[in-house]
Amino acid sequence: LTPRMRPFTTTVFAEMSALAARTGAINLGQGFPDTDGPSSLLEDAVAAIRGGANQYPPGPGVRELREAVAAHQERFYGLRTDPDDVLVTVGATEAITAAVLALTEPGDEVVTFEPYYDGYAAAVALAGAARRTVVLRSPGFAVDEAALRAAFTPRTRLVLLNSPHNPTGKVFTRAELELVARLAAEHDAVVISDEVYEHMTYGVPHVPIATLPGMAERTLTISSAGKTFSVTGWKVGWVHGPTELVAAVRAVKQFLTFVGSGPFQPAVARALALPDEYFDGLRAGLERKRDLLMTGLDAAGFAVNRPDGTYFVTADAAPLGYTDAMALCWDLPELAGVVGVPVGVFHDDPEAAPSLVRFAFCKQDAVLGEAVDRLAALG
Ligand code: PMP
Ligand code: GLN
Repeated sequence: LTPRMRPFTTTVFAEMSALAARTGAINLGQGFPDTDGPSSLLEDAVAAIRGGANQYPPGPGVRELREAVAAHQERFYGLRTDPDDVLVTVGATEAITAAVLALTEPGDEVVTFEPYYDGYAAAVALAGAARRTVVLRSPGFAVDEAALRAAFTPRTRLVLLNSPHNPTGKVFTRAELELVARLAAEHDAVVISDEVYEHMTYGVPHVPIATLPGMAERTLTISSAGKTFSVTGWKVGWVHGPTELVAAVRAVKQFLTFVGSGPFQPAVARALALPDEYFDGLRAGLERKRDLLMTGLDAAGFAVNRPDGTYFVTADAAPLGYTDAMALCWDLPELAGVVGVPVGVFHDDPEAAPSLVRFAFCKQDAVLGEAVDRLAALG
């Protein structure tokens, strides 16, 4: 393995899900729902397989899905997108990695925020580029303007933005997005905007950065059916943006996977056109689960951050006397029969969040209730 990929031999998600499987603990570590998406979606995929949609789909993705993504962006955000400027990818992961590979050379710099989804650091390392990170600190996770400004240099090519943000649950404020937009424009950087949790915001709107003045021209917007339709195993994602930027991503994507998810694409296309009740129901259900888990963690003695988005809660274990979240997470199955993820693993320096734990709440109410009962034993 090359030195630049050596730090990436395993992922925290694989380790924590293995820990849960080994110990029989409730897995609130890796973020995946324990209920599948809408039945119409599942039936449509079965019909597509039975109907013979089982060979290579077209390189950019099936037309129906590219049109559905464009219609979705207009319907929810007023963003006008040509279906020809939509590229279907193997999950958001491929879109992110292909975009970073397409747009950076060794030595170029990518500005991103810490803690970050682990795939970001790996994508930047694959490209041989360097990441310049800005730390979001608990509680509040506000953007420090001076630190963000300082992260930009003449070598900055990309900003890798994620709102709603994994693992903090933060939804960037309009003012923060405007600051990112201004600095990206000043440095002529492209923004890669990972919006996989776009439909999971609670009481605040999701604002795609591409909707800010002048930003559609320099933004690649990415999302995924895995989150919106609770089918993380399908790995259907997409990216859209200016013609030349999407063409660059397509050039790389061809040689990563060529195409993907043939029979799932038409099914996802139809799901994107589901009525508002589906999207409202997803949001309302998750908001209730968030409150359930937050109340339980608070009662157990954690100092809980209130997430405005995603399906993750971060909770500080220091008030319980646990100052090392990494050690606590390895012991948590034995102590409480629950698995969580230490937020430190999403940082370059784990000391930036020494006692913070991330718990996923995209689980059935009964599972969350049981987890909360078990965690009460910690106090
Ligand atoms: N970005 C973020 C912030 C995520 O949390 C995830 C979830 N795994 C992804 C990207 C990857 O999405 P996908 O499974 O569609 O590749
Ligand atoms: N996005 C999910 C999480 O943050 C899991 C992704 C993965 O397993 N790679 O938990």
